[in-house]
Order: sequence, then structure tokens, then C-alpha cells
Amino acid sequence: MKVLLEVRNLRKYFPVKKKTFRESRQYVHALEDISFDLREGETLGVVGESGSGKSTLGRVILRLETPTDGTITYDGNDVTSLSGKDLRAFRECFQMVFQDPYSSLNPRLTVGNAIAEPMRIHGKVRSHNEAKSAVSEMLLRVGLQPEMANLYPHSFSGGQRQRIGIARALSLGPKVLICDEAVSALDVSVQSQVLNLFNRLKRELNLTYIFIAHDLSVVRYISDRIMVMYLGQIMELAPKEQLFETMYHPYTESLISASPEPSTKTRKGRIILKGEVPSSLNPPKGCRFHTRCFKEMPICSETEPELREVAPGHFVRCHLCAEKGRG
Ligand code: SF4
Repeated sequence: MKVLLEVRNLRKYFPVKKKTFRESRQYVHALEDISFDLREGETLGVVGESGSGKSTLGRVILRLETPTDGTITYDGNDVTSLSGKDLRAFRECFQMVFQDPYSSLNPRLTVGNAIAEPMRIHGKVRSHNEAKSAVSEMLLRVGLQPEMANLYPHSFSGGQRQRIGIARALSLGPKVLICDEAVSALDVSVQSQVLNLFNRLKRELNLTYIFIAHDLSVVRYISDRIMVMYLGQIMELAPKEQLFETMYHPYTESLISASPEPSTKTRKGRIILKGEVPSSLNPPKGCRFHTRCFKEMPICSETEPELREVAPGHFVRCHLCAEKGRG
């Protein structure tokens, strides 16, 4: 599969406001040394607890946040240095679907105007009639009726509002959708309808997805490959089946053991992690997971493990895999 986006050594630190003049500047280490490829036509699931950096990753890729360091290459260009019309052109190709479409939809705009707005801004429609027919097409695509274009967001259910958010994201004809907790706010039955919609749209429009969620069963359902994040770093990245059958990282093991469909490896029972996720203001030295790991070794609190390819396409950041990675 062709590589669509190449992310290398990406870092994002957010400065924290100083309380006193003498205090030294502190930073939230939201992303640390993130490298991966996004392949055309795949769904890459990104899973992790809150504070893992998964949403920041989506926002940095979309250039809603500027990275502190690293490169993001799309179509031969480093996205991190784009500006003006090049950045606008990039944003036509990459769009975001948010968790709560209600807060991203202007309550004073009809749904038709909300969907047409990006097309008008980017000069994709020139007349009222062109906008109207494009909006009708978008609404039908996401399983809504064209007449609904005249209604306001408050008239819709959560699932319908998410469909409107998807229609708006699709209005510029993107290649990639970054879905950030896009079904988390929905009831389970509505969740599966929206996930099926994402799958249908992917087939019909040849889309590529980065699907960010804290719920592993959602990510498992929709993804081709899964990236597991913890405290701003990739802990494991592998094709879905491979991850569920031969996960190497203790954190992945704990996540899978807690999911409704554990794998053969984790069927012995749920692994309860000790403690809380440490603060990303001051991440632990060595392996970031060592304060909670049930397989910790002396080296783990001293030396940071690298992300190694332990089998074709299967990457792990753990000292337990050091020997496998060398082969
Ligand atoms: Fe656990 Fe050590 Fe592996 Fe980190 S490097 S996940 S602490 S075994």
C-alpha cells in the first residue's frame, strides 16, 4: 500500500504558565518521538487513556497545533512548514470529525449552511444552486434527507448530528479523515450505525482514516492497524490481528485483558494496573510505563526503550523486546 503520510520524530510540548517570575518554565510533554507511516486506504486506530497524546497527535497532523519538532511529509512536502494557500490546499485533503458535533456546529446556522460553509470558503461552489445540490448530495451520502438542510442543529439526535459533522468534513472531498473520539458520545446501538457509515464511506470514497478512541473495542472493530499510545509515546503498533494475538507490550496486554473480547494470550483474566497515569509535565525517567508495569526490570527505570520492529510491521517500545528487535 502506498504511504500517504510519513511522520518522523514528532514532538509537541506545551508551555505551562509560570506562577512567579522566578519559577523556571515547565512544559507538558504531549508528544515525544512519534514516527509512523499512514498508508493509503487504511484505517489506523489510535488508542490510549486520556493524557496519552492521541488527540494532540490528530491536531498536530492537521496543523491545528504547530509541532515543537519533527516532520510530517505529505505528497513530498513537509506539512509542518506549510502556510498560506499551500496550507489551505493541505486542509482540503485532511479533515477532522470531532467527538461532539453539536459544539462544532453553529446553532444559528441551518445544517445546509453549516455543510456549505467550508465549500464557499474554499471556492468549491459558485452559486446558491450549486451549494444547494452539493449539500443534498452530502446529506444523502451520510444517510440523511436533503429536506433536513433547512433545519437547525438542535432539531437532530446525537447520531444525526454526528452524520452532519461527517457530511461537513466530507464537503471538501478530503482523502483523509481524522476521527477524534467520533463515536464516544453516542449510545452503543447508534455507535455501531455510525461505525458502519464510516466503513461504507471509506469504500465508496476511497478514504483513509486515523481513528482516535479510548475504547479498544471500537478501535478493534474499525481498524486495519492499531497504534497504542501512553504518555505521549507509541508503545506498540501492529496490524490488528497480530496485535490481538501476539501483543508484546505489557500496556497493550493490560488494555486487551480489560476488553470484552480478550485474546488467547490474555484470557487468564483482567490485568489491573497499579497507580495512576503519571503527569506529562514530568514523565518518568526510563520507560514511561515503568511506574505501572507488572513486568518491570531494573533497566526500565534507567534507560528509555526505543521503538523497535520486532516482526514485519510490528513495532514495540519495551526492553523485553530488545533481543527480538536486533534480529
Ligand atoms: Fe515494562 Fe520495562 Fe517494558 Fe517498560 S520497558 S513496558 S517497564 S518491561
